[in-house]
Amino acid sequence: MKELILEMEHYASVNNVPIIELDSIKFIMKYIKLNKVESILEIGTAIGYSAILMANANDICEITTIEKDEKRYKEAVKNVNKSGLDKRIEVVYNDAMDVNLAGCKYDLIFIDAAKGQYIKYFDKFCHYLKPGGIIVTDNLKFHGLVKNKDLIKSRNVKGIVNKIEKYIEYLKTNKDYITKFYDIGDGLSVSFKRNEKRKDID
Ligand code: SAH
Ligand code: MG
Repeated sequence: MKELILEMEHYASVNNVPIIELDSIKFIMKYIKLNKVESILEIGTAIGYSAILMANANDICEITTIEKDEKRYKEAVKNVNKSGLDKRIEVVYNDAMDVNLAGCKYDLIFIDAAKGQYIKYFDKFCHYLKPGGIIVTDNLKFHGLVKNKDLIKSRNVKGIVNKIEKYIEYLKTNKDYITKFYDIGDGLSVSFKRNEKRKDID
């Protein structure tokens, strides 16, 4: 397993695949372990790096992970098969906004796909959260650019950063969810329904 993880890290760095930072995945794995998480939905598989590590956090969790890019989807399936975790990780090849998960509920929903679409993902997938579950979002700092907007030259990147700021504002003002923001890795948030008992994450 160690070898596969290193192989994936190498592939990601050579092919510019934005995989999760180590501190962030450690944080999520700790939560999965402590809370005996059984079901996970991931939006944005890339090559399966975070999914495989999350599945490794305990022996029971089952993961559905969605990826819309064909090349990455195929790479993810290959990696999941190599990891031997194919019974617990299902990779879905589709745009997350077109996926129908009717009847499914998850203990943990990990939002990590297109950074400009975060509000849409949250609005759609929060309905699939089990009571007591959490929604984790990655890359809220967007490589530090959210706090340093004047450094951004590309209009495209500026647009994404503005949307991340809107998402943060949306989370802060959401009446149904409480969100904690963590300065870990590229910036993580953890949202959970108001008026629910839960174990704290740290
Ligand atoms: N979670 C991964 C990294 C995901 S990178 C890890 O940490 O290892 C984000 C991925 O989301 C990209 O591969 C991109 O193709 C995918 N993506 C972007 N928009 C999407 C959408 N609407 N539906 C599904 N996947 C999407
Ligand atoms: Mg990420």
